[in-house]
Amino acid sequence: MTQKNKPHQHKKRFGQNFLNNDRVIQQIVMAIQPKPDQHLVEIGPGEAALTQPLLEVVKILDIIEIDNDLIGPLTQKLGHYPAFHLHHTDALTFDYHQLLKDENDRLRVVGNLPYNISSPLLFHLMQYGNRITDMHFMLQKEVVERITAEPGSKTYGRLSVMLQYACATEYLFTVGPENFTPPPKVDSAIIRLTPYQTKPYSATSESDLSDLVRQSFSQKRKTLRNNLKGWLTDDDIEACGVRPSDRAETLSVADFVALADCYTAKGA
Ligand code: SAM
Repeated sequence: MTQKNKPHQHKKRFGQNFLNNDRVIQQIVMAIQPKPDQHLVEIGPGEAALTQPLLEVVKILDIIEIDNDLIGPLTQKLGHYPAFHLHHTDALTFDYHQLLKDENDRLRVVGNLPYNISSPLLFHLMQYGNRITDMHFMLQKEVVERITAEPGSKTYGRLSVMLQYACATEYLFTVGPENFTPPPKVDSAIIRLTPYQTKPYSATSESDLSDLVRQSFSQKRKTLRNNLKGWLTDDDIEACGVRPSDRAETLSVADFVALADCYTAKGA
């Protein structure tokens, strides 16, 4: 066997669990519903399980892959598609603005994401929310449950609040470990995130919102009064219609926006 045709050695550090089931791949493509006039971005193509069906349809597919060993094979296999644009780079630090063709261009972002970087990547992508139409991602099932959790549920936390602040979130379907090579240890799920172009609740300062949410959940078992000591008084919290004796996990996104606005106003 020549060097060129050697099977790919899956790299754990890049979260390489490749989809191996055509039915699941079709199910994901059907959920995405790619259209010929659209500009898609795929993060982590691997061996092109999703890439190829997308390339068949869309006008532009920007593909972002970090693993040097996959760049040659991807180019060889798919380089003839007019939509193919491969970027050998780190999706976590990549500036997605550079992909936009003009001021009307909007990106649809998709990917079976490496699980070890999914949260920082989602936070990175949130910065581009006003230029992204939607995102379809395969994530660890537990992370999808956390993102889509309702206030009061066990899994509701900082990730739920910050993503629900910025996007409509939908749990689409579960994908078992047997559909990947090598199989991961946990179930996965597909999520659709649709960034709000007009947010239902908008914080005066998003960086204050982010800081305040982090602080509110800093000690899960403590009340807001305790976690927000030095940030907001009981009177401040009550003025927002929230009980200081409540825990962060019971608050809605609207409650957090009210608390963050109060914190911003105090600092102004
Ligand atoms: N899309 C393929 C599939 O479904 O079979 C592969 C998915 S695999 C879970 C994750 C992919 O993301 C791998 O190709 C991996 O090399 C790539 N990857 C990992 N970290 C990355 C990063 N920081 N930036 C870009 N790609 C990354």
